[in-house]
Amino acid sequence: MAGCLFCGIVAGEIDADIVRTGELTVAIRDINPQAPVHVLIIPKEHVTNAAELTPAHAPLMVEIVAVAQWLAASEGVGDSGYRLVSNVGADGGQTVDHLHVHLLGGRQMTWPPG
Ligand code: AMP
Ligand code: ZN
Repeated sequence: MAGCLFCGIVAGEIDADIVRTGELTVAIRDINPQAPVHVLIIPKEHVTNAAELTPAHAPLMVEIVAVAQWLAASEGVGDSGYRLVSNVGADGGQTVDHLHVHLLGGRQMTWPPG
C-alpha cells in the first residue's frame, strides 16, 4: 500500500533490522524498544489491524503465533515469559496502520497496561 511504512519495509524500500522472514510475515526489531526484547511481527500483506482479519487470514495468524514462539526461544525469553500485543485503532494506541504483533520480553511486564 503506497505510503505505508511497514509495506515499505516489507518491500525492502525502507531499512529495518530484520530478525526473520517467513512465508507470510517479516519480523523486525522495534526502532524504539520498550523492553530488552521488542520485536514486531508484520504480515507481508497490507492489513490495517486485527479488526480487518477474517477467517481467510487463518494461515497468517497461525504463522504469526509460530514466529512468536520461534522468536521467544531465539531471543532467550521462551522460558522467562513474554507478552504479545496488537494495538487496534486510536484508543488501542496504534500508531502504524499496518497490522503488527509486538513481542515484548526480558523484563517483568505490568498489568494493567498503560
Ligand atoms: P503501534 O504503536 O502499536 O502501532 O506500534 C508501532 C511500533 O512501530 C512502535 O513501537 C514504533 O516504535 C515502531 N516503529 C515505528 N517506525 C519503525 C521503524 N522504522 N522500524 C521499526 N519499528 C518502527
Ligand atoms: Zn502496509
